[in-house]
Amino acid sequence: MTRDRVADCPFCRIVAGEIPSTKVHEDDAVLAIRDIAPRAPTHILLMSKDHIASAADLTVEDGELLGRIFASAAGIARAEGIADRGYRVVANVGAWGGQTVDHLHFHLMGGRAFNWPPG
Ligand code: AMP
Ligand code: ZN
Repeated sequence: MTRDRVADCPFCRIVAGEIPSTKVHEDDAVLAIRDIAPRAPTHILLMSKDHIASAADLTVEDGELLGRIFASAAGIARAEGIADRGYRVVANVGAWGGQTVDHLHFHLMGGRAFNWPPG
């Protein structure tokens, strides 16, 4: 499956710099930005730079990408001061999972307590 840029994908456009964002981390595979509609005091999105439609499209070959994403999330959590009390990293998949942007991203949320299970 191709992972080339998709012209009308908002996160491909953010990665390309065509839509402005507040970046908190960037490397050659991962971009982390502040969510435009935060649902917690800290709400950051970590996205692949390549277009991957969702977490359902990940394979064992993506192990390094996922390691980078989770290591980046942990580093950002420390930098944001949310690591000690704990935080949540979550990927929504598909309509019932709450996914609204079909480009792989993980929500890093903290600064308040969360319910389990989520609503
Ligand atoms: P999901 O619903 O899990 O697909 O998450 C998509 C997230 O992207 C939502 O939390 C949106 O608020 C966020 N979002 C959408 N457009 C932008 C944007 N241009 N910049 C930052 N965050 C965005
Ligand atoms: Zn995309």
